[in-house]
Amino acid sequence: TPVIGVLALQGDVREHLIALASADAVARPVRRPEELAEVDGLVIPGGESTTISKLAALFGMLEPLRERVRAGMPVYGTCAGLIMLADKILDPRSGQETIGGIEMIVRRNAFGRQNESFEATVEVAGVGPVEGVFIRAPWVESVGAATQVLAEHGGHIVAVRQGNALATSFHPELTGDHRMHELFVDMVRAAR
Ligand code: GLN
Repeated sequence: TPVIGVLALQGDVREHLIALASADAVARPVRRPEELAEVDGLVIPGGESTTISKLAALFGMLEPLRERVRAGMPVYGTCAGLIMLADKILDPRSGQETIGGIEMIVRRNAFGRQNESFEATVEVAGVGPVEGVFIRAPWVESVGAATQVLAEHGGHIVAVRQGNALATSFHPELTGDHRMHELFVDMVRAAR
């Protein structure tokens, strides 16, 4: 059984732990480099990307995270987690750094403010239609040649994959549908 961590600095960690367990993984929170070293894959949750970025720097996690992603550890980012996996943010807040790993440029809060959050059915390549929960969600402005677009909504890219890195603008951990987590657990199994 693959052991999958959830980066537990800020955000909806608990929901991801539950979704991963339902998708037949052993799931545990990861806060420190020693804990990161022990997992086969990592989820970066939704939350606030500036806060996650600053806490990752404070906890000495930014470099270890970059190293493991560079080395091919499977990683899945939702919403703020997608932002953390972007090689470039269009409008970063000052001091906001990313882990990177996916060749893409993202726009934060692209779909509007908190009260403009919405749900929509999104067709995800290889998965099928999933209920997308968008909360102050980013979209992917553009991708590099190596990045595969898995889904679009309203003409904007909302799900991508590059090698072992997967990212969605929306939050499958907030629905009862665990197919996105199952896809990720399969990626982790294949990488082991
Ligand atoms: N707007 C948030 C950010 O920039 C992301 C929101 C979310 O993760 N639901 O980090």
